[in-house]
Amino acid sequence: MYICPVCEHAQHKHLYTIDQGKLLTCQNCQLVFYVPRPTQDELTTFYDQQSYRQDYAQSVMSSHNFTKNRYQELKKIVSKQQPNLFNKPHKTFLDVGCGLGDLLQFAIADGWQVYGTEISPKAVLQAQENIREQILVGDILSLDLPEAHFDLITIYHVIEHLIDPIPTLKKLQKLLSPEGILFIETPNLDSLGSKIRGKNWSNIVPPEHINYYSSQSLANSLTIAGFDNFKLFTNAPYKIESVSNWSEPLQMVARFIYKITPIFGMGTALQAIVFPSNKQ
Ligand SMILES: [Zn+2]
Repeated sequence: MYICPVCEHAQHKHLYTIDQGKLLTCQNCQLVFYVPRPTQDELTTFYDQQSYRQDYAQSVMSSHNFTKNRYQELKKIVSKQQPNLFNKPHKTFLDVGCGLGDLLQFAIADGWQVYGTEISPKAVLQAQENIREQILVGDILSLDLPEAHFDLITIYHVIEHLIDPIPTLKKLQKLLSPEGILFIETPNLDSLGSKIRGKNWSNIVPPEHINYYSSQSLANSLTIAGFDNFKLFTNAPYKIESVSNWSEPLQMVARFIYKITPIFGMGTALQAIVFPSNKQ
């Protein structure tokens, strides 16, 4: 019997069979999750493999322009919600799962006092010197960080990897300053790519990704973690790698379609702007 890692209910529906495991949809919170769940030791071994790190280093997500675009998008979204945040004289930014700290470099240039957390000691060793001391190595749950302190916390493409996502979300709630904003991004299970490709969707990669979120299930996760004030939306991809071999007119059509998918909640990434709970 499998238990949902978010809401702990036992009723679920079979979605796909993948390699040695399967994806189940929780009938209570709608989370899609991979079983059997890997152990923490298995994940640590997996992420320490050199090949995993090389894949990341060669992916579009590690390029300078990609990170620049990500920072500008973040600034636009956050400024819209909290116009004064970027003008604050002493503002603190925490990036959870910061990798080599690339996003934090853009934040430093913009006047933020930055911190990062990263589970891979190898990634931190490869980070540039000016940022290395600002990165804490380890799982956010075991790190000692000041509560009600951070004005902006980002967690990009991390929650889909976590064996147990709720304690992490609860911890981030504690770390957020009273006027702070938490920004979450994860692959969108309701995206056009996911709908078209089904079980062959590029984001279905266990044991790397073990939780798959839709707007509905992410909203349920945030509520279960104790948040009561958040907004969810989706975004278009920075680059559509899967069509790079197509003819130029077809690529133009694909780019147009991908550009409008967020209007229908079918964008590539699911994003959440989360405010501190009103109950606290
Ligand atoms: Zn559930």
